Amino acid sequence: MYARAMTGLLLTTHSLPRQGLVSVVGAMNPCPCGYKGLPEEKCISSPATCGRYAGKISGPLMDRIDLHIEVPRLKPDELIGATDGEASAPIRDRVMAARERQNGRLGSHRVNAKMSPREIREMVPLDKESEDFMKLVMARLNLSARVYDRLLKVARTIADLAGDEQVVKKHLSEAVQYRDRSEGF
Ligand SMILES: [Zn+2]
Repeated sequence: MYARAMTGLLLTTHSLPRQGLVSVVGAMNPCPCGYKGLPEEKCISSPATCGRYAGKISGPLMDRIDLHIEVPRLKPDELIGATDGEASAPIRDRVMAARERQNGRLGSHRVNAKMSPREIREMVPLDKESEDFMKLVMARLNLSARVYDRLLKVARTIADLAGDEQVVKKHLSEAVQYRDRSEGF
């Protein structure tokens, strides 16, 4: 269901102007019964069923989703006693500052997501440590070439949010964390 919804949204972007930006957000359970990975519940889905369930979203579609984040279920006391966390205003300021950095580099209204492959090479140069790290990651996680450029764009945005001029290994490793699909997602 979610996969169909996301596919539908992605298809609609074709009719938008070239500069149109659409953020697609989707969510799915870890398995059909929804209990996989929960220590206090028993998952009744077989590994084969879980594999088929995860496989409903194709690899190429998953590749195009930049951030994959696992959201663990909150315990009752975490839910009830939860603090509000960081206020929206300072987060907004950080995002606006990061946008300005991107506009300064790419021109007005252009953001990292819109970088061409050539711009990525120019604006996200990797030092030797970062290059070696990325070679290791690509081989170990068996990621496609398409994902490589997306990782660099996400790392560039992480650096922009932190106010860092250069993309270095710590930005890349954070980007990779949002891409780790070792659990099948
Ligand atoms: Zn299950």
